[in-house]
Amino acid sequence: MALLGATGVVGQRFVELLADHPWFALKEVAASPRSRGRAYGDAVEWLLPRPIPPQVASLQVRGAGEELASPLIFSALEATVADQVEVEYARRGHLVVSNARSHRLSPGVPLLVPEVNPDHLDLVNPTLRRGGDAGDPVSAPASGRVTGAAEAPLHNGGGIITNPNCSTIILTLALAPLHRAFGVEKVSVVTLQSISGAGRPGVSALDVQDNVIPHIAGEEEKIQVETRKILGLLTGGEVRPAPISVSAQCTRVPVLDGHTLCVSVALNEGGEDLHADHIRRSWTSFRGEPQRLGLPSAPASPVVHHPGPDYPQPRLHRDRDRGMACSVGRLRPCPILGWRFVAVGHNTLRGAAGGAVLCAELAVARGLLS
Ligand code: NAP
Repeated sequence: MALLGATGVVGQRFVELLADHPWFALKEVAASPRSRGRAYGDAVEWLLPRPIPPQVASLQVRGAGEELASPLIFSALEATVADQVEVEYARRGHLVVSNARSHRLSPGVPLLVPEVNPDHLDLVNPTLRRGGDAGDPVSAPASGRVTGAAEAPLHNGGGIITNPNCSTIILTLALAPLHRAFGVEKVSVVTLQSISGAGRPGVSALDVQDNVIPHIAGEEEKIQVETRKILGLLTGGEVRPAPISVSAQCTRVPVLDGHTLCVSVALNEGGEDLHADHIRRSWTSFRGEPQRLGLPSAPASPVVHHPGPDYPQPRLHRDRDRGMACSVGRLRPCPILGWRFVAVGHNTLRGAAGGAVLCAELAVARGLLS
């Protein structure tokens, strides 16, 4: 496979994860004109404790948009570049699994959390769809950011799968068991997001040390809209967003990795008969298709409940199950919405590279790539 944005914060996580992957081998890397033509080991400012895998350090960095041989392409590009480049690769017959926001809301593009909405993968390849019209696997998004993508349906094996926003992945993993068991009606979430979520160079130390920054551009809107698409129903070849009201407030805090979410939720069913144990059980018993299929990157339990009164915490729990599990705890009644809890997840692993690799594994398991 190939990796776009290979030198960035998320790109480096991909390189680390793919070094020992049983199914995928990283053969091509691409980044900006600044890095193009250099050996990966020279171009990258490596941030991770594990050394750069030698087989990747010697790869020559390509420009994003250049001809690539790999059928599968992971993208960790920033959205301004991903907008056009990802569509172009899909048109050339590549399957692109992207972390960028560019195509997440396109009607023909799945916004995938493999444990939560694996059936949405049917949007990629019309021949795998159980019913309805084929449509266009990379049609233009409702936002209209991508133009010209809807003109010709793709029947060449190409397509785009998107990995949601990092906070949204953690939120939907925590909400999906509740939505299945009791129906979620309203959600209010306050996020405390780590600095690695801002990419490189990100926020300056002078701004974030000893501080909380109560604004992350575009983040609240992404959480509000993406959550409804992920928990929505695929019917007649399109996703009907879940009828859930979501209110998000996002902050940046001086934590290196791992986002913390303080969530209040109103449930449709259960009323006064609902006990905290019912909710905890819905989390601990939650399993999805990745677990049933035994996919290589699937955590044993996607949602882990921590009973401690001051758990979960990002430093202690972000790496749970190779950074792929969502940790929840502090479940208690909420005087306004009914229930409240805290969730923690790793933003560059489950929330980015690890989540995208799991999406690709599911695509392979479902026959989208041989
Ligand atoms: P980053 O550290 O800023 O990395 C950006 C990457 O894009 C670098 O490899 C950079 O290459 C490349 N790039 C920049 N301009 C380019 C151009 N004109 N042409 C080709 N390549 C170009 O960002 P990041 O945090 O890794 O995020 C990457 C994507 O993942 C973004 O869309 C982001 O929103 C999304 N995401 C990030 C996180 C997170 O926690 N960080 C979580 C979920 C999703 P050079 O090194 O050569 O400049």
